Amino acid sequence: MTVHRLHLLGSPVLRERSAEVPAVDDATRQLIADLFETMVAAKGVGLAANQIGVARRVAVVEADGRRHVLVNPVILEAEGRETAEEGCLSIPELYADVTRPFRVVAEALNELGQPVRIEAEGLPARAIQHEIDHLDGILFIDHLGPMKRRMLLNRWKREHPPEEGFIREIKPASAGSG
Ligand code: ZN
Repeated sequence: MTVHRLHLLGSPVLRERSAEVPAVDDATRQLIADLFETMVAAKGVGLAANQIGVARRVAVVEADGRRHVLVNPVILEAEGRETAEEGCLSIPELYADVTRPFRVVAEALNELGQPVRIEAEGLPARAIQHEIDHLDGILFIDHLGPMKRRMLLNRWKREHPPEEGFIREIKPASAGSG
């Protein structure tokens, strides 16, 4: 397993729609293991493959003590509404309240290529939606109103100038979120 470098806001791969995984093979399992290892090292609750530069529909979530593997995930049902603070490992140190459905039912393939139905509420539901957004090139800031989004982004860009690059090395001690 390998801890990968994280792509940050500004890296084009974060804005791509990732490609379906045609078959869950050893390379996919390696990717899943690397995603978990990188997520844990970065202290996140979820990570999508394009955040480590791989534009495939694979993501992982660990929330409320449970791990979810999401290969080609789709949301089947979404209900309720909840507003909570959200962050993203690809936009470090930026947090904002985001409103999303409180409960979701999702379907995905697991690391064995078997279809799995996932019912989640609260934080895991939020993390699953956040990661599926990543696979469609959507970032959590896209859910904010235009004024709020521009204000936060302007501040973030001042604090993270492009000359620092769009890639961050992850060490086990660094902090982050999703
Ligand atoms: Zn994220």
